[in-house]
Amino acid sequence: MSSRVLKNKSNQITQGYSNGHRAVDLVGNGHTTDYVIAHTSGTVNFCQTGYGNKKGATGNASYGNCVKIKHNGGYETLYAHLDSVSVKNGQKVSKGQVIGYMGNTGNSYGAHLHFEVRHNGTRINPTGYLNADLPSNSTVTKSTTIKYQAYDNVKNKWLGNVSKGSVSYAGNKGNGISGLMIDQLTYRAHDKVKKKWLPWVVGRSGYAGNLPNDIDAIQIKNATYRVYDNKKKKWLPWVSGTTTYAGNIGNSIGGIQIK
Ligand SMILES: [Zn+2]
Repeated sequence: MSSRVLKNKSNQITQGYSNGHRAVDLVGNGHTTDYVIAHTSGTVNFCQTGYGNKKGATGNASYGNCVKIKHNGGYETLYAHLDSVSVKNGQKVSKGQVIGYMGNTGNSYGAHLHFEVRHNGTRINPTGYLNADLPSNSTVTKSTTIKYQAYDNVKNKWLGNVSKGSVSYAGNKGNGISGLMIDQLTYRAHDKVKKKWLPWVVGRSGYAGNLPNDIDAIQIKNATYRVYDNKKKKWLPWVSGTTTYAGNIGNSIGGIQIK
């Protein structure tokens, strides 16, 4: 699957998202011949040029040559360590437009793209958006039916939306789910690898999960829901609200269904 941020390349993550690195690092073919492209249309609101390699640099200087783009819904994307920048501050850019060239500027130890997604100024996990649209506030407010979708950790992509109350479910039985997005509702996921509950998410302001870690339990406020246990190969009982949870800690989830 081609990348949303590197032209004609697939995503190869060399450093994932963590508390100490609220971004993902990507390389194309391991050299500097990769055009960096805008993930989503928007307006360039930060542009930094003229930097060389400076290991140990801090603050904005650590990004080296860098572009930040403002999108709808309070989202921003940031592209750092560029060799060169081909857009200007204030410029409107469209999805897929070349904004620079992968490089090794700023606090960098080899050519790569450092990619961040921010929502209302907070850096969120970009992994689920490497091949997918940013959440759109307009779809949330216009939608009368609550829809939800899951990230298939084997296929490495967001699966299609499912309507709440339908007989369908989000997921592929047998494949682990590592991300969950639900319109309007408040929900959270339990990280099977970190063995802890991740922060609550409201609507599509983000997603529940910590890609690429599997989820082994979920909680959804004001809903009745169940999950498919990949290890037991069966649907677990329906649960309601947050006095309990759906899932078996330690077993990955292959399906999520909301009544
Ligand atoms: Zn980085």
